[in-house]
Amino acid sequence: MSSHESSFFEDVVRNFDKAAAFLNYPQGLLDQIKVCNSVYHFSFPVHTESGYEVVSAWRVEHSQHKLPTKGGIRYSTSVNEDEVKALAALMTFKCAIVDVPFGGAKGGIKIDPRKYTPDQLQRITRRYTAELVKKNFIGPGIDVPAPDYGTGQREMAWIADTYSALNPGQIDASGCVTGKPISQGGIRGRVEATGRGVFFGIREACNNKEDMKRLGLTVGLDGKRVVVQGLGNVGYHSAKFLQDSGCIIVGIAEFEGAIHNSKGLDVLSVWKHRTETKSIFGYPGAVELKNGLDALELDCDIIVPAALEKQITSSNAPRIKAKIIAEGANGPTTPEAEEILNQKGILIIPDMYLNAGGVTVSYFEWLKNLQHVRMGRMGKRFVESSTMQLISTIERVTEHMLSYDEKMRLTHGPDEVDLVNSGLEDTMISSYNEIHSIWKEKKCPDMRTAAFIGSINKIATSYMELGIFP
Ligand code: NAD
Repeated sequence: MSSHESSFFEDVVRNFDKAAAFLNYPQGLLDQIKVCNSVYHFSFPVHTESGYEVVSAWRVEHSQHKLPTKGGIRYSTSVNEDEVKALAALMTFKCAIVDVPFGGAKGGIKIDPRKYTPDQLQRITRRYTAELVKKNFIGPGIDVPAPDYGTGQREMAWIADTYSALNPGQIDASGCVTGKPISQGGIRGRVEATGRGVFFGIREACNNKEDMKRLGLTVGLDGKRVVVQGLGNVGYHSAKFLQDSGCIIVGIAEFEGAIHNSKGLDVLSVWKHRTETKSIFGYPGAVELKNGLDALELDCDIIVPAALEKQITSSNAPRIKAKIIAEGANGPTTPEAEEILNQKGILIIPDMYLNAGGVTVSYFEWLKNLQHVRMGRMGKRFVESSTMQLISTIERVTEHMLSYDEKMRLTHGPDEVDLVNSGLEDTMISSYNEIHSIWKEKKCPDMRTAAFIGSINKIATSYMELGIFP
């Protein structure tokens, strides 16, 4: 970062201040909402073939206005205190905007996970968890981590197991982390939740006639040309759901470069190709771009940045042709770039709303862990048999018999995954409309400012109703 370039946390604060200017809260209250309450930086040794290595790690709890705090854990060489603080702050505002009753937190370990064996990663993850336990920075009612860049179900299972071992007999121990495998108390639909939420948010935006008219786009997803940056958890699932709903994925960018094809790239087969060959290059029929960032400048309607922060900056923003930037990643657009994009009339669907699907379903997983029962288990059969009785009565009265398939479809009682997806869809639709109305009512410059306004209002109310601020 050069001396004049703002840090990620400064960017978050800048966006916060921009929104706070539309509100009338005392400065002290705004300062309390902005600040990171607890920052824990620690180091520990890891033994590898090349000897001992000291690893740096963080956990930041940004706001405890609601408990537990919640936020992912990132494994990346670019992890640093400023980044973890920024991501923790974004979590606070994200939870507030989608009405998930948590404060924000984030964790990170400064490593490149690809350089370690699974056994070494397991030791690193378990040690990290033990350090959090020592300082009371983890627990179902304290702080609940989740997956983020470079981590997934496997790491979450190690965290849950370590926490349980260090807290024997704690009945709610599995609620100390979310994003776990199903066998370890995870919930169906969590893996793809962030991408599914990104898809619901984009669908909502594209269904708004007035906005689409202003952008010169047709209403709906059908035929929209999409570029996705990052084919990991968020990028892959966002792209897959968009493709399945009629979008054409014209470009995919990864670490090593990008590929594009104006006729469309099949997301699943690109993913398989990259998994098998370890590179996106060599995919049949695609044009290759050596610099992955160039994909963001391709001719398309929607860009989904789903890799890392600060990808759209003042240097590439003027050349962006897309009409919608759908922020799957956290912080992919710098405030300078946002000003340029706003002037060009581009619609930015902000990260703190758009990628909130993960934390929403994490909330459902946490509830499942505290309830100790799978969602749908108590009601599924009851719904099925009462709907079947209703159908039989209608058949008798109308003398019209439904086919077996029709009956099965109509009487299907909700499974866990049906309830999770339905709760997620409802959350993403209602939050989009909430942010959209603030945007229009307050006449603020962009949806990010509107989302911050909504979050600040909710957090400020929480502090004021506690009597901490008048
Ligand atoms: P991931 O590790 O599963 O995937 C990230 C992908 O981006 C990887 O395939 C990686 O190779 C690729 N990548 C790295 N640098 C790149 C570059 N310069 N250009 C193009 N591709 C690059 O991570 P993820 O969980 O999908 O997270 C991605 C983003 O989404 C992060 O900003 C994260 O904070 C955010 N996010 C994730 C979740 C979640 O549930 N996983 C939830 C909310 C937000």
